[in-house]
Amino acid sequence: MILILEADLAEQSPVFQQLLTRLKAMSDIQYRIHQEQGTEQLLSEIYLIGNTKQLRVEDMEALPGVKQAIRVSKEYRMLGRHSGDHRTQGFDYNGVHFGQDNLNVFAGLCAVDTPEHVEQMLKALQENGQVCTRMGAYKPRTSPYAFQGHGKACLPYVFELAGKYGMRVIAMEILHESHMDEIREALEKTGHPTGVMLQIGTRNTQNFELLKAVGRQTEFPVLLKRGFGITLEESLNAAEYLASEGNTKVVFGLRGMKTNLGDPHRNFVDFAQVPTVKRLTRMPVCIDPSHSVGNRDAGPDGIPEVFQVTAEGVVAGANMILVDFHPDPATALVDGPQALLLKELPWFLEDVRLARETYEERVLLAAAQGVAE
Ligand code: PEP
Ligand code: MN
Repeated sequence: MILILEADLAEQSPVFQQLLTRLKAMSDIQYRIHQEQGTEQLLSEIYLIGNTKQLRVEDMEALPGVKQAIRVSKEYRMLGRHSGDHRTQGFDYNGVHFGQDNLNVFAGLCAVDTPEHVEQMLKALQENGQVCTRMGAYKPRTSPYAFQGHGKACLPYVFELAGKYGMRVIAMEILHESHMDEIREALEKTGHPTGVMLQIGTRNTQNFELLKAVGRQTEFPVLLKRGFGITLEESLNAAEYLASEGNTKVVFGLRGMKTNLGDPHRNFVDFAQVPTVKRLTRMPVCIDPSHSVGNRDAGPDGIPEVFQVTAEGVVAGANMILVDFHPDPATALVDGPQALLLKELPWFLEDVRLARETYEERVLLAAAQGVAE
């Protein structure tokens, strides 16, 4: 069960303390406090675990400081949607809003290679009004002999250049919890010119110890990619690991599934599940068209397949797009064949805008039927 408390209730306040005294007196019930300082108010929630079946919602709502009690379904206790649950979704990070109601584009390099390419990429993004990007410093590679990413060596120039070109959030995959410390240290040394969204890649979706470590910090939000060979339910449970450790600033990423049934795409595109994830959980949903399609080929109508699947995801309500671009894909050290060209960036953004506009019109159409929540 989740108790949602009145806003701005400090833990030291008499009301909060009275509530805790009452909870401590309940047999077979343990509690965990979760507080979030929003831009305007302090939000507090208390998660009750144990034999909560014995508790009546009305009784819990009568406790001091409790605004609403929600009985949670068994699954995805913290990130899931439960009946009667109208909590606001999403979060703000470094001036950017992430929710199920908006859309952010993260175009950028799959892997950082040279400072020149980073700068060309960021300059193009700024010229096109973008404030988010993707920059891979730590790369999980199939072969141990392949380029593994520049790691912490590239962080100072990546962060400084990101600040120079007005980037507010960089999505960056980490493979080990020590990478979090390296990122934190580099941000401090460079004076926090930008923010970082930690990315857990598809190969690490079920690396539970990494999930716990990333979940224990709340400084950085997290983009969790769906595991490419496991069920959706298993991946959503992986996201719940982050939240259960304390970090609920989680975006869920669909990136295609590993099966030869999707050939010749690199992965079988799974963007039909954008609305499914939004229905089952309160997480914003990201799509990664680049790692799904895996090429830069266009159809006979002239539209690249990466654009097509992006539009599919956006028309279905996706909230974030992670997409590979490169100033010179032929020399990219990782995933050059799927990187879009910088000259295609304005076209891509316009195509996304059209798809988003269609989605918004579809929401209005649904509302007119009286089917929206
Ligand atoms: C990436 O985004 O660079 C990446 C490696 O993605 P995934 O974990 O989905 O393969
Ligand atoms: Mn890649």
